[in-house]
Amino acid sequence: GATLGILGGGQLGRMLAMAAARLGLKTCVFEPAGDCPASHVANHHFRAAFDDAEALTRFADACDVVTFEFENIPTAALDAIERRVPIRPGREALRISQDRLTEKNWLRDLGLAVAPFAPVDDAESLRAALDRIGAPAILKTRRFGYDGKGQARIATPDDAGAALAAMAGAPAILEGHVSFAREISVIGARGLDGAVACFDPGENLHEGGILRTTTLPAALPHARATDAVLIAGRILTALDYVGVLGVELFVTDTGLVVNEIAPRVHNSGHWTQDGATIDQFEQHVRAVAGWPLGDGRRHSDMVMENLIGDDIARLPEIARDPAAAIHLYGKAEARPGRKMGHVNRRTGPAA
Ligand code: ATP
Ligand code: MG
Ligand code: MG
Repeated sequence: GATLGILGGGQLGRMLAMAAARLGLKTCVFEPAGDCPASHVANHHFRAAFDDAEALTRFADACDVVTFEFENIPTAALDAIERRVPIRPGREALRISQDRLTEKNWLRDLGLAVAPFAPVDDAESLRAALDRIGAPAILKTRRFGYDGKGQARIATPDDAGAALAAMAGAPAILEGHVSFAREISVIGARGLDGAVACFDPGENLHEGGILRTTTLPAALPHARATDAVLIAGRILTALDYVGVLGVELFVTDTGLVVNEIAPRVHNSGHWTQDGATIDQFEQHVRAVAGWPLGDGRRHSDMVMENLIGDDIARLPEIARDPAAAIHLYGKAEARPGRKMGHVNRRTGPAA
């Protein structure tokens, strides 16, 4: 049988490996950390650093195709792997999504609505950006941010100094605050044959920058939901993408504004494990392994709740709820803000 390589050993890698096993594939995980969520379920764990060219080559030679569960993989590591074996999705999606400024420019050039934005490297460029965009705004590091990390809110121009200090010298981007009615995401997939399939849009609630719940269906007029899916389709096609991609959107009075894209399976798609025939993990494995896409139709209304940090202490109570489908990541230590697992609850049949 074929072997799927997964770069990164977190919970997304773990759930990809579980889906791959269901399809009869073997998995190799490449992850520097020893006891990581994906290593518990993958067939092989290459425990080495992302700058270890020799280990990367051995890893690539053990795999038929390589995918990833996070977007910040060093370019040199990708080069080393790609000399031996295909990487799916391809390099273009990674290049664009590794840098918020590149990503915003690319989305805008595709004709999609994004928040007003400007690059910020120092106090002077921040002042110029605030003059143009106005407050409230959000300053974000261009690279490596996730779960709201590397962001500073600017309520009034007086906050500029503190916000810039929070970037700690890293290149940043200023985004105008989008006053949204709700946040949604579309989990889309594109096969090697170019076929596109999207899951229904979910409605996302964040707390302290971290995804708290995803609810299906999103409370949207049908036409808006269709818009969101079509936007995801345009992005997938423009990238010549293979695999699953998450698109985060703001719903505003004047239409949909794209917040960001993630070239991988996405936390807001976890509901698909218990709410759709084929879930996002299987869909991704199917796509990168060159299989036809599956039927991602939603059969149930759902609420996905993340278990973050101390939430895990509620496990005994959650386990007594017969309607709660529990997904734990096997992490030993519950640190604040750390995603320990999630719970999917069916709230009824899909309309
Ligand atoms: P993720 O974990 O989803 O990758 P992230 O750290 O990349 O998150 P963003 O998605 O950019 O961060 O921002 C986190 C949240 O902050 C958004 O989901 C949204 O609630 C809020 N937010 C971000 N940018 C804006 C904006 N321009 N206007 C209004 N709210 C915003
Ligand atoms: Mg992000
Ligand atoms: Mg986000």
